[in-house]
Amino acid sequence: MKKSNAPYYEVVGCIHMHSIYSDGTGTISKMASAANDVGLDYIMVTDHNNLRALANGEEKWYGRVLAIIGYEINDVNDLNHYLAFGLTEEIAKNIPAFEYVKRVKKKGGFGIIAHPDEVRHAMVEHPPYPWTEWESPDYQGIEIWNQMSEWMEGLTPWNKLWRFVNPRRSTEAPVERTLQRWDRVNQKRKVVGIGGVDAHAHRHKMFGGLIGVTIFPYKVQFQTVRTHLLLEKKLSPGMDIEEAKKIIYDAILDCRVFISNYFNGDASGFRFLAKNRIGRAIIGEKLVLDVSTRFLVNVPAEAQVRLILNGELVAEKFGKNIEFPCADTGVYRVEVFRDKRAWIYSNHIRVERE
Ligand SMILES: [Zn+2]
Ligand SMILES: [Zn+2]
Repeated sequence: MKKSNAPYYEVVGCIHMHSIYSDGTGTISKMASAANDVGLDYIMVTDHNNLRALANGEEKWYGRVLAIIGYEINDVNDLNHYLAFGLTEEIAKNIPAFEYVKRVKKKGGFGIIAHPDEVRHAMVEHPPYPWTEWESPDYQGIEIWNQMSEWMEGLTPWNKLWRFVNPRRSTEAPVERTLQRWDRVNQKRKVVGIGGVDAHAHRHKMFGGLIGVTIFPYKVQFQTVRTHLLLEKKLSPGMDIEEAKKIIYDAILDCRVFISNYFNGDASGFRFLAKNRIGRAIIGEKLVLDVSTRFLVNVPAEAQVRLILNGELVAEKFGKNIEFPCADTGVYRVEVFRDKRAWIYSNHIRVERE
């Protein structure tokens, strides 16, 4: 770990998306170009059950956008979707979730549990795909906000048309029980929270098949749930791909991550840190408690900031540069609301006794 008063370099991207290598409609290069158009630095592609894009050499820089290729694994019942990264080849198919979670780690990769708490029943062709394998000790992350999943869970016969026309407006907040699980597991070990878009750029027939519309073009979804990373080294477009990936993976595994809904404003520049006479800690780091310990939160625009300790709301303030006192040990994170809309979710800072 580096000295925590050194600068971090922020990059922003989108995670969890499907291309023509599974059930998406765009090529990797089309997705990267959409990402470029809306100012992303990276995308993490996760086609279902295959790494063909990687085998075909499509993991690379596309201008200033780095496209990283992982894949989404599921079990024989199409449950327990798992976003696996850092692998050079696919692991065995049709094995139980407990087993693939273990194997991904053993092969030197890491994995993120996708849309863990889906319960949707609005469209028969899109049943829920929840996570059931919670006993696994080997996963590294949880997708705490899945844009597509949220959109679909909220569908009713009455709002369907409105939601089709206003895809970004209907992205409201992460699922509360997922946040609770994430807080609970973090009291035992470090598990990163990321945001996913689950983009497919689906073609959908409306009005009895008369009109074909693309629901959620990639570009639209890339302007919703974004994952910001605080890197230890600067990424420069064109740099060695293995080196670039390592910098990104280190930030993810270290939980130097926050998630935003871009629809409510650009969250770049948001910071949450703990400080005292002994030192300081940013998101993902830890600090030893003393009487001078406090939290500093910098938000790009005035907003309501909630401080969460071990899953419980402990303080709330409105402003742009906010300070909270810290008197207890535990895992802390913040949630930021702008005009009552969920905007930013940080990962945890750990405050410990010596
Ligand atoms: Zn999935
Ligand atoms: Zn997916």
